[in-house]
Amino acid sequence: MPLTFTILGSASGLPSKNRNCSGAVLQYKGRLLLFDCGSGVTRAFLRAGLRLSDVEYVFISHMHSDHVSDLPYFIQAVKHSGPRGPLTVCLPEEAIAPVSNLLNACYLFPEKIDFGLTIAAHQDKATLYDDEVIVNAIPNKHLEHEINRNIIAESGYPNLMQSYSFAIRAGDRSILYTSDLLSFDDIASHVYDLDLLVIETTHIDLKRLIESIPDRRIGRVVLTHIADEDEKRIKNIVSAYADSAVLSVAEEGQAIIP
Ligand SMILES: [Zn+2]
Ligand SMILES: [Zn+2]
Repeated sequence: MPLTFTILGSASGLPSKNRNCSGAVLQYKGRLLLFDCGSGVTRAFLRAGLRLSDVEYVFISHMHSDHVSDLPYFIQAVKHSGPRGPLTVCLPEEAIAPVSNLLNACYLFPEKIDFGLTIAAHQDKATLYDDEVIVNAIPNKHLEHEINRNIIAESGYPNLMQSYSFAIRAGDRSILYTSDLLSFDDIASHVYDLDLLVIETTHIDLKRLIESIPDRRIGRVVLTHIADEDEKRIKNIVSAYADSAVLSVAEEGQAIIP
């Protein structure tokens, strides 16, 4: 099986009839790394013919529910998937205690999980499988807007507004999965020399991105985080682009070989 990046969910955070919430899985030499785990991702994972026992890492970009709401169910599904090795779930540091508490509230106590579950904070650079895969968690400003900032300041809530994009090096391939951004400026300096860019469409200037594709030397751009109401507009913009092999809109279950 060649290196494959499969879209498991490509909806925005708004209610969708057509798409699951955010999730994608990297297949590399029989090992699976899951990126985001929004509603519907576990089912999409199974429909893609993937094995839960092959998942070794889950990376959660941020705590909006459309990126994390399936996580307890995914872990429960992993628990019931038969004998397996350890699973590491990497999260924004602010989420470790709340997610650990949520798993306990869902009766997924550590005492009942026999495969070795680690909940850890993102690292700048997670080097996996003898350097064959590197996942660089890049902080972005998606959650750092005025409304959040004011509520947190006034309430004393412990939230730190942490959100991440992921630059992935797997073998000789470079992939950037942006997840949600505040704007394209969050990630612009990382969008160069990529085999695959999977980028959200809700918070970016799509035309600015598309105009810059040739200069940025990107082999393939897949647009995701699509609201039902916005799908037609995005598809119109994409269909006007000359090379459909380079730019496309994410499809549910789409297996991309970068
Ligand atoms: Zn989202
Ligand atoms: Zn978000």
